[in-house]
Amino acid sequence: MNRFWSKVVHNLTPYVPGEQPKLTNLVKLNTNENPYGPSPMVLEAIQAATADTLRLYPDPNADRLREAIAGFYGTQGIEPRQIFVGNGSDEVLALVFLALLKHDNPLLFPDITYSFYPVYCGLYGINFELVPLDETFQIRIENYQRPNGGIIFPNPNAPTGRWLTLDEIEVLLKANPDSPVVIDEAYVDFGCDSAVTLVNRYPNLLVIHTLSKARSLAGLRMGFAIGHPELIEALDRVKNSFNSYPIDRLAMAGATAAMEDRDYYEQTRHAIMSCRDKLVGDLEALGFEVLPSVANFIFARHPKRDGAQLSAALRERSIIVRHFKLPRIDQFLRITIGTPEQCGALVKALGEILA
Ligand SMILES: *Cc1c(COP(=O)(O)O)cnc(C)c1O
Repeated sequence: MNRFWSKVVHNLTPYVPGEQPKLTNLVKLNTNENPYGPSPMVLEAIQAATADTLRLYPDPNADRLREAIAGFYGTQGIEPRQIFVGNGSDEVLALVFLALLKHDNPLLFPDITYSFYPVYCGLYGINFELVPLDETFQIRIENYQRPNGGIIFPNPNAPTGRWLTLDEIEVLLKANPDSPVVIDEAYVDFGCDSAVTLVNRYPNLLVIHTLSKARSLAGLRMGFAIGHPELIEALDRVKNSFNSYPIDRLAMAGATAAMEDRDYYEQTRHAIMSCRDKLVGDLEALGFEVLPSVANFIFARHPKRDGAQLSAALRERSIIVRHFKLPRIDQFLRITIGTPEQCGALVKALGEILA
């Protein structure tokens, strides 16, 4: 509390990011980072861009990057004018909430979901209603058929890892033609179908992606949205009222290369998916209940052991996972899929803790 603070600041409840410990030698499975580094082509592109030209402002429209993103979607007919890029998808989301999700009717999102959403609502004064997941922690689209000013959720959902099919998303879009529907696809690359294939048929659909997870660029900060050009125009209007240059020259070069190196993307995401499938089996063998996941993390609980205690016992063994002290999910651990060696170390440690 400080007398120089604005009223807005007094009333904020900021997001608390997952811990980024300064220690090395940890098995860090707490923030869904990719255990493999970015593509070597990304590092080369950043090195090539590290030049005297840094004295010049970057392209405010990020044209080359938006062309590379459109190119990635090739046959789906996505044009650069349907793409908006931002400094991490968190920034894209921050602009989306102001540009598209603040209306008289409440914004709807799940009771268990990405915990940044209520923070943006607090920042902008957006009226929202939580829609409970069912008892299997699944989103039920029939619960989203009531008056609303917009709908947002991740697919697959975080931190559960559960997902909806494109058929279900289409039912939701058809039932809500007058609402913006935002699908946050941060984890879509690890096994579920992207709604990008629907944007040319539904002008109310906006799909958000990040390069932090499947493309291993959490440290570069890059995200994008794909949707109807009029939705993109709303984002551009807000962005250009806030910061004209959110994407710096190095990030632009690296992200462009990441979108172009399809082979590396395919190879690393498949390595993570197969490691996930093995880890699920190993944890089930130890007695864990694991929710079905198509993300680069799993959500698991042990029927006989307290979640907070398991998390603390892992930490004593230098393994960090995420535990949320929140209603309904306080017995779960959210575990990022690491390399086979990291997952092996986790299973070994859990075996010892449970013995
Ligand atoms: C990781 C994550 C993001 C944020 O990604 P950044 O691009 O790193 O800001 C957005 N939404 C969900 C659901 C995420 O898990």
